[in-house]
Amino acid sequence: MALSMIDTHCHVHEIEASLTPVHDKWFADGAERTADSILAAAQGSGVDRIIVIGTSLADSELAVGFAQAYDNVWASIGIHPHEAKDHRSAAQKKRFEALASQPKVVAVGECGLDYFYDLSPHDAQAELLRFQIEVALTHNLPLSFHVRDAFEDFWPLFESYQNVRGVLHSFTDSQANMLHAIDQGLYIGVNGIATFPSSAAQHVIYRTIPQQRLLLETDAPFLTPVPFRGKVCEPKHVANTAEFLARLRGESLEELAAATTANAEALFTLR
Ligand SMILES: [Zn+2]
Repeated sequence: MALSMIDTHCHVHEIEASLTPVHDKWFADGAERTADSILAAAQGSGVDRIIVIGTSLADSELAVGFAQAYDNVWASIGIHPHEAKDHRSAAQKKRFEALASQPKVVAVGECGLDYFYDLSPHDAQAELLRFQIEVALTHNLPLSFHVRDAFEDFWPLFESYQNVRGVLHSFTDSQANMLHAIDQGLYIGVNGIATFPSSAAQHVIYRTIPQQRLLLETDAPFLTPVPFRGKVCEPKHVANTAEFLARLRGESLEELAAATTANAEALFTLR
């Protein structure tokens, strides 16, 4: 049986407009790419559905338009913590929330707290995270969380709400935070970082994420998995991370693919 995997977090829509600096990253290795070629290559690797993730208001509008233009693509609307400081006006928030009821919008995020790069003041990051959690709750959508070096503030904020559903995307933190996330009903998103030699110390974490809470993602065009370091990451590379994780976890690729796809379908309503 052919594999059917889902890239639950990528930025493919940014290939279409030079709206964000990420656009240029898509062509950084000199390869020619179009949205169609990327989607076809994904399909050929068993990655037949993808979710594109917004990181600002304008980028979320781009993501929604992209998802509506292509089959098997859905959108998550989000303001990245880096962008929080530039999205505090009522007019921006109103425009953002209007996107939540657009066709093919299946999630809110990426949103969260990032104290590693620290590109927005912490109060702006918290304000925009609360706003997005509230939009998600109002529209009954799950969230894609980006949390870096900030769990000490993330958990109290997160736990001040009830019934929040979502995923900790690109998880690279501690075993304790992974287990706490599982306790809180969250999913754990794993991408090419897991395959990096520098991640060896985290292998115990990737091995012990419960199968029913594991999601596959790429964060393309970033974080290309081994053995394709130096190439631009595409949704097709979910297959490489899946193979790596299956070996690490002692599961068959078929079993891991089926479980993670069922998880993505349970969290995001893809229709
Ligand atoms: Zn991302």
